[in-house]
This record gives sequence, structure tokens and C-alpha cells, in this order.
Amino acid sequence: MIACYPGTFDPITNGHLDVIERASRMFEKVIVLIMHNPRKKCTFSETERKEMIEKSLELLEHHDNIRVEIGSGLTVNYARKIGAGVILRGIRAVTDYEYELQQATANMTLDGEIETMFFIAKPEYSFLSSSTVKEIALNDGDISPFIPSVIVRRVEDALTGKNL
Ligand code: ADP
Repeated sequence: MIACYPGTFDPITNGHLDVIERASRMFEKVIVLIMHNPRKKCTFSETERKEMIEKSLELLEHHDNIRVEIGSGLTVNYARKIGAGVILRGIRAVTDYEYELQQATANMTLDGEIETMFFIAKPEYSFLSSSTVKEIALNDGDISPFIPSVIVRRVEDALTGKNL
């Protein structure tokens, strides 16, 4: 079974990477899908986000069955196009639940053959989001505990001391 993990990943965090690693042990193939979220204004271009995810994947012991793609349109349509039967999402706290439930229910109505499955965030990542990382970097804080080591410099260079 192929699973896709859609998200904004602006930038990828250790929480995202943990979900990807756990999923890669369960599914034949995992496609990390960079999708446009109209609710968010992104700092990094889709290509930059793809490069940062790909670099981060190299930190994983096994990453042969993981690919990164830039998607467009409706997630269910893209999932179908690439042969994915499962959409993966992460849930950190109860605050994620309402939005995720709404999306998953809409997707179920659009395509009843594609299931949404949820990964519960590891406790140490349950308060971690890309926007928290960006806020810390903007205020010259240390982001190294929160994102893959190989992209720390790049995120710092893009954000440290900037006023977005
Ligand atoms: P989106 O804009 O689609 O919500 P994100 O990149 O913010 O994209 O998140 C992608 C998915 O990963 C979402 O389902 C989100 O709840 C989940 N996620 C985000 N951060 C974490 C984390 N620290 N641990 C587990 N899941 C997470």
C-alpha cells in the first residue's frame, strides 16, 4: 500500500520527520506531498521545502521507500493519481482534531476509497510546529532542537534577525 503525507512543511520539523519515519516502516511506499495551503503564507518556496525534506530524509536509517513530491489541486485527486490508498496526517493536540476531522470527512466524501489515517505526535514533539520554529528563529533563538540538523543553517540564514 502506498501512503501519502500531505502538508505545508514550511519548513519540515522533527515532528514531521518522526511521522515520516514511522509511516515508512508500515507502508510499502510513503510519498511526502508538499501541498499549497491557502490558509498559510509560506517562507520557503516549494522547491526549497522539497530540498530540505530530501536532505532530512538522509538522516533516517531507511529511506529507500520515501519520495518527496510537489502536489497541486485536491489532495484526494493527487493521491489517486499517484496510486496512494491512504492519506496520512498528524495530530498533536485536541486543537488539531477539529480541522483534521473536517478535512478527512471532506476527503472521504470526495473519494470514499481513500482512507485518512492519523499518527499521534510523540510527546516531545506535541507542541512543535513550523510556525513555532520560524518565530524562534526570527527572534534569534536556538532552533536546533526542533528541526533536522542538516537544515538548521538554511532556516537560520533565511530568518534570523528578519522581520517578516
Ligand atoms: P498543513 O498546512 O497541511 O497542516 P503542516 O506542515 O503544518 O501542513 O502539517 C502537516 C501534517 O503534519 C498535519 O497533519 C499536522 O497536524 C502534522 N504535524 C505537524 N507538526 C507535527 C508534529 N510535531 N508531530 C506530528 N504531526 C505533526
